[in-house]
Amino acid sequence: MGILTSIEPESVFTFFEEISQIPHGSGNVGAISDYLYHFAKERGLFCIQDTLKNIIIIKEAGPGYEEEAPYILQGHMDMVAVKEPGCDIDMAAEGLRLKVADGMIYAEGTSLGGDDGIGVAYCLALLDARDIAMPRLEVILTVDEETGMEGATGIDLSMLHGRRMINLDQEEEGIFITSCAGGARVDVVIPMEREQHETWTKDLCLMELKVTGLSGGHSGMEIHKGRGNANCLLGEVLRALAEHMPLRLVSMGGGVADNAIAREASAVLVLKDNEIAKLEAIVEEQDKRIRLSLQEKDPDVKVICTTLSGESGFYTGSCVKAALDCLAKLPNGVVAMSQDVEGLVETSLNLGVMALTEEGLRLQYAVRSSVDRAKEALCEQMTGIAKEAGAQVSVHGSYPGWAYQKESPLRDKMVRIYEKIYGHKPVLQAIHAGLECGILSSKIEGLDCVCVGPDLQDVHTAQEKMDIASVGRVWEYLLAVLIQKG
Ligand SMILES: [Zn+2]
Repeated sequence: MGILTSIEPESVFTFFEEISQIPHGSGNVGAISDYLYHFAKERGLFCIQDTLKNIIIIKEAGPGYEEEAPYILQGHMDMVAVKEPGCDIDMAAEGLRLKVADGMIYAEGTSLGGDDGIGVAYCLALLDARDIAMPRLEVILTVDEETGMEGATGIDLSMLHGRRMINLDQEEEGIFITSCAGGARVDVVIPMEREQHETWTKDLCLMELKVTGLSGGHSGMEIHKGRGNANCLLGEVLRALAEHMPLRLVSMGGGVADNAIAREASAVLVLKDNEIAKLEAIVEEQDKRIRLSLQEKDPDVKVICTTLSGESGFYTGSCVKAALDCLAKLPNGVVAMSQDVEGLVETSLNLGVMALTEEGLRLQYAVRSSVDRAKEALCEQMTGIAKEAGAQVSVHGSYPGWAYQKESPLRDKMVRIYEKIYGHKPVLQAIHAGLECGILSSKIEGLDCVCVGPDLQDVHTAQEKMDIASVGRVWEYLLAVLIQKG
């Protein structure tokens, strides 16, 4: 007996539980992909497993639906595998420990993978349903959506007949996503040369400078909130110091991922004893200035400094100044708001990761825009600024956005049926983040697409939860859409 056995809709939760017992973090999708392949073969369904481990499964139309246009259903099989500190599950090798409480499903100590395991479970339940006649279903289950959408980028869809697609990677019931941003990664490396330090003398010490206490967040969905980026703020503090004293830089860096707003950044400096008081005064001033500029957007921000023991070589002089100037010139945050959709960010960028390496100061940006031209223009602008500073630039991982379609028969049909069942219209939303719909739309000409899903909370964290009743309602809704002809 599974934990979810006898929870309705039974077929959906049975498949969700089976998936949850197979480790399927991004980059570790071999086993889940093989499971999906065998699922199709056992049922005599046409199935392709490509070299990336993407899966395509096709189920022919049921009786009476032979003349209906097919539906493409789509989700991603990988999940963000994160756990609480102290949790002893090996997520690369073990299944999840599902729990049910207060109408919600979660996994003890880890993320649940409702994103996007529930999308996969819906697809399997639909493919498995023998007693419900539907149009031809073409199911796409991609790999590694969470780490850069490599599966969607590499998949061949030329064998599909469908021109309308329901993407099942949305985490709010009642909100249909109808367009998303495209993106690119921009890496800048500003060359720096480490100076051999003079003999370490007794009056020298190491001082760590830290920008901390920031809220961070998703570099697409939360970029408009005006929160501080620790990497950029550290750059500002160092520039302020450089105006008043010689800067001897041992290290600097911060952030954990391109697509997360950096919450913490730090630098280590070499100081003379008689410079400490001055540094402390400037840091205090900067701390006040930053608090005042961020206020409620980031109430817990702090700039602090502490002395460290030890000695070190350092960077100094014009190369430090040039690197800090280049960092200051490169834009960050919201660049433009949409002219068409009120409140939607059109173009933005985030300095997610900064690190001082042997090659120089490395800056990694995630660039996003719902307008592909604007994204390219921003990448060109950044390249210009960086090249002027003698830096190396690489623009890579570029993927197209999914523009809002003025005419969408699928959206019209889905809104109509939603209104009939729920008694009100769904919210149609454009998002400033990437979805596979953009990439897949670029591979199927004229693809008509809508993105829906049940309520999930705290995805990508060990607190992730999935609402059981919402899963049931979305299942009934999906069936109603698929069964209704037209
Ligand atoms: Zn997802």
